[in-house]
Amino acid sequence: MSKVPGQEGNRIDTGTKPIVKYTGVTKSFGDLQVLKGIDLEMQPGEKVAVIGPSGSGKTTLGRMLMTLEEPTEGTIELDGELLWHTHEKGELVRAGEKHLHRMRSNVGMIFQHFNLFPHMNVLRNVTEAPRKVLGLSKEEAEERAVSMLGKVGLADKLKMYPSNLSGGQKQRVAIARALVMRPKVMVFDEVTSALDPELVGEVLEVIREIAEEGEMAMMLITHEMDFAKEIADRVIFGAEGRIVEQGTPEEIFDNPKSDRLQSFLQRFR
Ligand code: ADP
Repeated sequence: MSKVPGQEGNRIDTGTKPIVKYTGVTKSFGDLQVLKGIDLEMQPGEKVAVIGPSGSGKTTLGRMLMTLEEPTEGTIELDGELLWHTHEKGELVRAGEKHLHRMRSNVGMIFQHFNLFPHMNVLRNVTEAPRKVLGLSKEEAEERAVSMLGKVGLADKLKMYPSNLSGGQKQRVAIARALVMRPKVMVFDEVTSALDPELVGEVLEVIREIAEEGEMAMMLITHEMDFAKEIADRVIFGAEGRIVEQGTPEEIFDNPKSDRLQSFLQRFR
């Protein structure tokens, strides 16, 4: 079979510089090695769904990009710059807090639990980081925040406190709070798992709209297989700390090659 120019295996070479690049990344918690050598690139604007059994290291993968966990070995680059550290001549070179702080502002992460500030209203939850981290004025931050809250369908909830919102609304505030920082990459970690089933749709709809805008790279760690199939450019199946298989949604869901992936997908049929 002839090779498609610019396409090597599952990786589509668009000629652009990757926005995210993991090289030989391992992660251990004590004796437990949860990631066993991850090589992964994401292109600017690319939507990558990460699926796999619980405990396979998906959250850890995302948390490292958000600088919430440090890799044990290997490197992670964000937009061509080293995020964490590198190993030079066997020596671990740690990134300083200032560097991490700057790099972190390029990444947004949404968690299963929303972690909103309970004592702040919706608007302040969203303006806090642009003011404190980006140094925007109150007016500038509010202008951005109102626009983002409009985008997630909460324009009429600016003065409400988190305790008076539904789970779906809280999660949409969390999404607006991350988006307002204009990150280059967003990590969505099981963002609908803690929601009542009837609230899942409204959150997925917001994520779908953000994805359609296209600019931001997105890592979607999810158990929502239909959703992954619909919006991902590429799906990564991880198990026991390794990437077992990756490909287009059609390749992964309609034509899984490994036994491991086939049996994993059975559970969602
Ligand atoms: P997944 O998202 O695929 O469910 P995780 O990345 O959350 O997997 O976890 C992978 C493994 O690492 C699990 O066994 C989990 O218990 C363990 N783990 C995650 N974070 C920590 C931590 N801070 N300390 C110890 N073990 C951890």
